[in-house]
Amino acid sequence: MVYQWYPGHMTKARRMMEENSKLIDLIIELTDARAPGCSRNPDIDTLGKGKLRLVILNKADLADEKVNAQWLSYFEEKGIKAVTVNAKEGQGVKKIQSAIRDVCKEKTERDRKRGIIGRPVRAMVCGIPNVGKSTLINAIVGKGAAKTGNKPGVTKGKQWIRLNKDLELLDTPGILWPKFEDQEVGMKLAMLGSMNDEVLQLEELALDLLTFLVREYPENLTARYETLTGEALEQEPVKLLEAIGRARGCLKKGNEIDYEKTANLLLDEFRGGKLGRISLERP
Ligand code: GDP
Repeated sequence: MVYQWYPGHMTKARRMMEENSKLIDLIIELTDARAPGCSRNPDIDTLGKGKLRLVILNKADLADEKVNAQWLSYFEEKGIKAVTVNAKEGQGVKKIQSAIRDVCKEKTERDRKRGIIGRPVRAMVCGIPNVGKSTLINAIVGKGAAKTGNKPGVTKGKQWIRLNKDLELLDTPGILWPKFEDQEVGMKLAMLGSMNDEVLQLEELALDLLTFLVREYPENLTARYETLTGEALEQEPVKLLEAIGRARGCLKKGNEIDYEKTANLLLDEFRGGKLGRISLERP
């Protein structure tokens, strides 16, 4: 399967972001903590040339804690300010405002010397679909400000949000980029649910996820699907999928395994954190 999803609304959104980049001081890049490298849009580097940057590792509650710490050190070494957040529970949301102040300190100071006082920082919030942008903006602003949904592409249109006298946020639609140079990146984004499931072969994706989990997080598989333990984990991925399907009653007429349904179940459980804290990428 070739991973690619770049529908017309993303081209449009990118154009909008480009047009607005003149107006902004700071780009807040929302990434999925389970794959922070893969979930950074390379187009943002072009778009955000010369802009201040803040990286947010959202859904940190779903990612491996040890790996979260590695990513924070990674960004620190690169001189990029990064914070871990769980937007759903509001954890770490307060850190964001102080991180913004931190990142903008020099600029604010420069402005002050030039006599520009009280101009709010303008920040553009960017992220791939389903990364939790609406949830985060709601958590920052308060309920009802931005629409949310567990479906890529729900955030639409252009939206400036004035948070206080010091900060204005431009919400942008979740976008990907035209081509994944490394298909592994596309695969991980598909696993995270940032690509439209309708353009994917979910059974193949589920088998790839199982291969990864057996290698990196076998104990999480065992904890969730009891029969997948010891030697049973050494079976081919398709046998593992079968075992999950059987255990969960994902069956068709004649007691045959419904692979599609099982693949959906596995991906749902992974995406929702039911398999425990898992990181798909290490720095
Ligand atoms: P958007 O497409 O980027 O706007 O993403 P949404 O804000 O609609 O969030 C997508 C899904 O991820 C929703 O089901 C949210 O509840 C969930 N979500 C968002 N942030 C977090 C988080 O930090 N932790 C967890 N566990 N779930 C989150």
